[in-house]
Amino acid sequence: MPSKGVLYIVSTPIGNLEDITFRAIRILKESPLIAAEDTRRTKKLLSHYKLETKTISYFEHNSFARIPKLINHLNSGEDLALVSDAGTPGISDPAYRLIRAAIDSNFLVQSIPGPSAFLTALVCSGLPTDRFIFEGFLPHKKGRKGKLEKIKDIDATVIYYESPNRIKKTLNDILKYVGDRPAVICRELSKKFEEIFRGKVSELLNNFNNGKAKGEFVIMIAKDDKNVYF
Ligand code: SAM
Repeated sequence: MPSKGVLYIVSTPIGNLEDITFRAIRILKESPLIAAEDTRRTKKLLSHYKLETKTISYFEHNSFARIPKLINHLNSGEDLALVSDAGTPGISDPAYRLIRAAIDSNFLVQSIPGPSAFLTALVCSGLPTDRFIFEGFLPHKKGRKGKLEKIKDIDATVIYYESPNRIKKTLNDILKYVGDRPAVICRELSKKFEEIFRGKVSELLNNFNNGKAKGEFVIMIAKDDKNVYF
């Protein structure tokens, strides 16, 4: 009976390919298979580090069908590395389901730490970091207003992920349902066109008046004006 494989949760860069640990590269090299949310993006990373490890797709719409195959792989005694399209697997992506299935089947699960967009954004925001809450993506329709109204009374910096298509709408909704709080938007962190906007929500909206927004965004909202100097 072969010993059981290990599921490695491997954090990868959120933009700049240098933002990866030596350990993550070693695990990606030594694992016989990498389950990747976006195999094309992962292959770019692998080729940058001259790694030839085989990849298999594992994303939102094939995750349920894929899990038995990946659990079989671990059962055969082989290790499996899990990567998301960027950052830390399990943060606003489908990695959770596979991690849960591996734990339920008594496999050893190890996390290889590395970047995540929300923490990278929070520490350069200038907003209080002593208490924060990560809310991921806001729902597009149902529950959106209620979720925003709830954060009004939260005594912490609140963090959201947002896409370029919805950034303007989300800022408008924050203004409407939460208020004109100090806030920070990080765009394209660690990439060529990285930008950080700091100001009241109403001021930040001015950055999105002309044409279609581009890139990836993290939005952070302060709990109040105290200790915030913009
Ligand atoms: N697992 C990832 C992590 O650890 O951050 C997050 C995956 S989630 C599907 C993708 C979202 O993360 C984007 O829509 C954006 O809100 C945020 N994001 C990822 N990379 C980013 C970057 N370089 N700059 C700003 N936001 C980023």
